[in-house]
Amino acid sequence: MPRLRGGTAPGLPADRPADPRLVDQFGRAATDLRVSLTDRCNLRCAYCMPEEGLQWMADERVLTDDEVVRLVTLAVQRFGVDEVRFTGGEPLLRRGLEDIIAATSALRTAQGRAPETSLTTNGLGLARRADRLAAAGLTRLNVSLDTLRADRFRTITHRDRLDDVLDGARAAARAGLAPVKINTVLLRGINDDEAPDLLRWALREGYQLRFIEQMPLDPQGAWDRDSMVTADEILAHLEAEFDLHHDDPATRGSAPAETWHVTDGTHIGTVGIIASVTRPFCGDCDRTRLTADGQVRNCLFATSETDLRTMLRDGASDDEIADAWRAAMWGKRPGHGIDDPSFLHPTRPMSAIGG
Ligand code: SAM
Ligand code: SF4
Repeated sequence: MPRLRGGTAPGLPADRPADPRLVDQFGRAATDLRVSLTDRCNLRCAYCMPEEGLQWMADERVLTDDEVVRLVTLAVQRFGVDEVRFTGGEPLLRRGLEDIIAATSALRTAQGRAPETSLTTNGLGLARRADRLAAAGLTRLNVSLDTLRADRFRTITHRDRLDDVLDGARAAARAGLAPVKINTVLLRGINDDEAPDLLRWALREGYQLRFIEQMPLDPQGAWDRDSMVTADEILAHLEAEFDLHHDDPATRGSAPAETWHVTDGTHIGTVGIIASVTRPFCGDCDRTRLTADGQVRNCLFATSETDLRTMLRDGASDDEIADAWRAAMWGKRPGHGIDDPSFLHPTRPMSAIGG
């Protein structure tokens, strides 16, 4: 799939069925849109960004609020997208976030359904904004947190902000954005012993903890398949201290997390593991991604993008933009191929794709 230049909509491939949705050649339909609102961030998580930061996108490359809303509207109204998640970089750094959320939550699919509107955030500044986000129509929220120890937080993120993240998660729950989900990445030799402590804390606070296997998306290229912490290891650590009851895999659908019911004797909750590397779920993937500079990616690990920003700014019609997006998704590969010898590390880091 070539990167499009000059605002011309590509024709849809002749063998594609006349389906208004974002379908691909392997029978998947994308109904979950991830929108990156900025590539900038105020943390420097070691698996995501180098300590000195990255070369940020120039402001004029980043979609305006109106451009974001136009594309999200197309996705919901034309493609039947019923889940929109805003991410980044750090989406709380985006000034117009509440307005974008309000516009999104007011949309309806052709069947009259409101999209679930969610956010993935590092939690910095969330304590101040949680009420406004909830009032704007946010339905769900994930806070990323890898450790409960201040020294480890500093080692992983290169910043001293653990308390701000904890305050942010609490404020989100109080604002009614419950159950708050916590995203955790475990790193060998840094926080790989912390899974049980994190789960005890999450159960106590009423959060749903999700461990995510580290993926090769760091610009430093430091990811190592042999030393990454695997889902099996995480599960073994948890099983040593908790009674876990596996949820029926048949009810998982396209959700990336395998989940378990768990109790600490006092509190009951769930815990999940997203085994993107060791147990890929590409066959059930229902995602489409839009970067902050208006590029459609049909996979986190896509090696090409489709430029909707140029089309928008060159005056393309909604029909033309919708067809370009459909063509982009038609070319989605069956799997990410991380374990293939021919696997190519994406040229964009996770923070610029939108996690
Ligand atoms: N800044 C926000 C945050 O941290 O939640 C949103 C963007 S961040 C890229 C989204 C999620 O991607 C976070 O939960 C983060 O832990 C995860 N992530 C980033 N790099 C990753 C990697 N290499 N492997 C697995 N997860 C990663
Ligand atoms: Fe920032 Fe999120 Fe990446 Fe951490 S994971 S550096 S918080 S974008």
